[in-house]
Amino acid sequence: MAKYAYSFGGGTAEGRTGMKELLGGKGANLAEMAHIGLPVPPGFTITTEVCIHFMRAGGKYPADLTRQVRRALARVETLMGRKFGDPREPLLFSVRSGARKSMPGMMETVLNIGLTSKTIDGLAASMGNNARLAWDAYRRLITMYSDVVMEKAAGLEPPEGKGIRSRLEHAMDALKKKRRVKLDTQLTADDLKTLCMTYRKLVKKVLRKPFPDDPMEQLWGGIGAVFQSWNGKRAVTYRNIEGIPHDWGTAVNVQAMVFGNSGNDSATGVAFTRDPATGEHQYFYGEYLLNAQGEDVVAGIRTPQEISKQGSRDWARNQNIAEKTRRELYPSLEETMPRVFRQLDGIRRKLERHYRDMQDIEFTIERGTLYMLQTRTGKRTAAAHVKIAVDMAEEGLIDEREAVLRVPPGALDQLLHPVFDAASEKKAELLTRGLPASPGAATGQVVFNADAAEAWASEGRTVILARIETSPEDIGGMNAARGILTARGGMTSHAAVVARGMGKCCVAGAGEVVIDYASHSMTVGGRKLKRGDWISLNGSTGALYAGRIATHDPQLTGPFGTIMDLADKYRRLGVRTNADTPHDAEVAVRFGAEGIGLTRTEHMFFEGDRIISFRRLILVAETVKTLRDELKAAGDNPEAAKKVRKKLAAPLKQYNRALAELLPLQQKDFEGIFRALKGRPCTIRLLDPPLHEFLPHDDAGQKEMSRQMDVPVKEIKALVEKLHEFNPMLGHRGCRLGITYPEVTAMQARAIIQAALKVKGARPEIMVPLIGHVRELSLQKDVILETIEDIRKKRRLKKLPFKVLIGTMIEIPRAAVTADEVAEVAEFFSFGTNDLTQMGCGFSRDDAGKFLGDYVRLGIYEKDPFQVLDRGGVGKLVDMATRLGRRTRPTLKVGICGEHGGEPASVEFCHMVGLDYVSCSPYRVPIARLAAAQAAIRDKAAKKPARRRPKRRK
Ligand code: ADP
Ligand code: MG
Ligand code: MG
Repeated sequence: MAKYAYSFGGGTAEGRTGMKELLGGKGANLAEMAHIGLPVPPGFTITTEVCIHFMRAGGKYPADLTRQVRRALARVETLMGRKFGDPREPLLFSVRSGARKSMPGMMETVLNIGLTSKTIDGLAASMGNNARLAWDAYRRLITMYSDVVMEKAAGLEPPEGKGIRSRLEHAMDALKKKRRVKLDTQLTADDLKTLCMTYRKLVKKVLRKPFPDDPMEQLWGGIGAVFQSWNGKRAVTYRNIEGIPHDWGTAVNVQAMVFGNSGNDSATGVAFTRDPATGEHQYFYGEYLLNAQGEDVVAGIRTPQEISKQGSRDWARNQNIAEKTRRELYPSLEETMPRVFRQLDGIRRKLERHYRDMQDIEFTIERGTLYMLQTRTGKRTAAAHVKIAVDMAEEGLIDEREAVLRVPPGALDQLLHPVFDAASEKKAELLTRGLPASPGAATGQVVFNADAAEAWASEGRTVILARIETSPEDIGGMNAARGILTARGGMTSHAAVVARGMGKCCVAGAGEVVIDYASHSMTVGGRKLKRGDWISLNGSTGALYAGRIATHDPQLTGPFGTIMDLADKYRRLGVRTNADTPHDAEVAVRFGAEGIGLTRTEHMFFEGDRIISFRRLILVAETVKTLRDELKAAGDNPEAAKKVRKKLAAPLKQYNRALAELLPLQQKDFEGIFRALKGRPCTIRLLDPPLHEFLPHDDAGQKEMSRQMDVPVKEIKALVEKLHEFNPMLGHRGCRLGITYPEVTAMQARAIIQAALKVKGARPEIMVPLIGHVRELSLQKDVILETIEDIRKKRRLKKLPFKVLIGTMIEIPRAAVTADEVAEVAEFFSFGTNDLTQMGCGFSRDDAGKFLGDYVRLGIYEKDPFQVLDRGGVGKLVDMATRLGRRTRPTLKVGICGEHGGEPASVEFCHMVGLDYVSCSPYRVPIARLAAAQAAIRDKAAKKPARRRPKRRK
């Protein structure tokens, strides 16, 4: 018989932390905490298998579940000394969702299950005659249960503001107004009782069903609703964004309730064992609320207080609150309950030692007794990732390798992006300060709802999403926004947690900001801002500014530098960059690039007047070619030859003049790049795109060209027409241009070599693009070698003072398949995996958008093969070509220069098949370095030494 319910509590548990697949993260860790002796209210976890069964069987449970739940429930009753549904000393339960990976706020939880007309008085009596507590709990039960079970799980989708939850909240607001109080805690027991009666009536009226008054009915209603919430709209959206599989399912945790709302010796809170924004751990970082239940902290209903005194002081300073006010109104837990604080601080240390990672915890204090309700590995910003990994390695909690493995390479992106320029920030108009909820800097146009954020962003605008507070429904808009601003909520509010997870700049709880959704505007300190106005956020300080602020590149020292040094220590794979300008090359070198893996030369043809020269060349290129062929055909007929030569003279002059104009300009470009590289190698790709890309396609442009070239517009149009190709990607481009027009190849080779002769330490590598046949390469190589020979002779050099490698890009499957032949001529390979994917999979890079999404959704390809290298197909070509090539030429240098070179999973693959280096855009260089180190460490750990290249080559 399969086991469906796992018990925990009372110092033991049937589950462990390793059983997340079955018990979900929450359940597995509740079990683990019980195991290591932490005070966890007892309960049991219903497995994810039941969820999967439930979904497949259309809402039915496995046969034995009821019996197993009954038994587990009885065990809790024994441990708690209370009975579920008992009128005198009733036991209440929370029913909590919990998937394998945490999905904060995405799924449902219902508290206080088991409160009925028969048990309310008993609860009050058994909790020290606390009627207020009982009615407060009942009010919460009705709110959560009617929303989660009776509305959402029943598939009802009322329009915004018409849902049962907001109607109930309305009723509560009305009552508060009537009683002239501001806070929930100021309502009396009688108030709450009246409110509960109103609630029950409202539920019946709106949902046309009475609120269930039977504990078991409530329990099973809650369990079913949690399972259903797995397929709720926002949960599905969240999984799509985070790449979490839809077939995992959630577990359900049924746990004895403890009451943080039983008076002023009670509280509830969330905390982190280290600061999730910065990684610091100088004090205990977290927030709590007196006399409240858990949901209140996250919901941002009241402003939570800091746990530690130091944290509380920092917070007050940030909020401009005087110390005296702070002590009276917002004291820390350290001050209000010093004994419990010390106990909690001890648990913090114990958890870190046990899990060897930063934990995110939930706790509740019931009349002075501390209970742990959750622990999980805490989400954190990239900065915190790096700092915590480095610190923990220094503290000896983890070793160096583990530290390298701890930082997700993709997260580094956040650290590499610009921060505000300090001087510009000082001058900017500060509107107010909120909480520094997620670091970074953002400038954008403000919008006030998630849909607008998505719409505007899709039009290419940068937006900042401002909300009073965010809720899980806003997830799409938050994802689209550059930064997030909220008027309400603390450091653990929904906005803050989600923004940190997304690595997005966020200022939360900026209390002075008054947002009016109706008029799409906000006011702050008497200043009004409309939708579309520019604002700037500093997520590291909490500052909100009007207008735009200049940004600059981040600092790469400190813990970041340490992690990068460690990465370099462990990686075998070299990391180069794709850069076309000296500036890009400099940035990349600062980020640790060991050279350039791809310089595209075509961009250089567009700068300034060069395009004019190049267009002159294109204008006559074909004529030159045709006449030359005629000349050859004329052979020993001097008469005919003379005639052709005469026709050829003018176009040839223009052709050669254009080349002569381009040569010094190209040479200058290369000199700049060589200089920026300071002795590092540089792979330069010869001209690649089809010629028509260099011609104007609109009337205005063609007219201008006609003026510049002094030829009729008609002729230009005819040329554009003639160069038009049906399938330019497979047309006259790449080495095919150099084969037809060898002088272009010669000019580029000359520019490269002459530049290298000018810059000390230059290490040029000339790359011929788009070959499919070794003969294409050898023809081009001949042209390059002749050019080199010519330069050498003219300069009377015995040999060049540097080595020139001549190699090719492998981007056509035929080249990969015949790599052994290609390597006879090529001294290096560089896989152009963008084109290799296009041609290998047969997906047009420009048109695949129409169907690739479906392909991924249907699981035909697990990931978009243009983003993540398709190991099974394109990867096989890479692997095979590498082996074949090295068989012919053992010293063959092999790298990759497609988009994949900066994508962690693809980098890992490149390590596994023994490439020498990957090359990626400058900002991805650190990511590639770290990904390469992780691949090497994992590889070693799997006891498979790197396949071919034991030593790293640059
Ligand atoms: P989430 O995954 O959204 O955080 P949880 O299942 O953790 O949802 O529950 C929501 C809130 O209810 C949390 O603050 C939690 O601490 C509180 N809570 C859950 N179970 C109990 C319980 N048995 N007693 C008291 N509070 C609880
Ligand atoms: Mg929780
Ligand atoms: Mg290409």
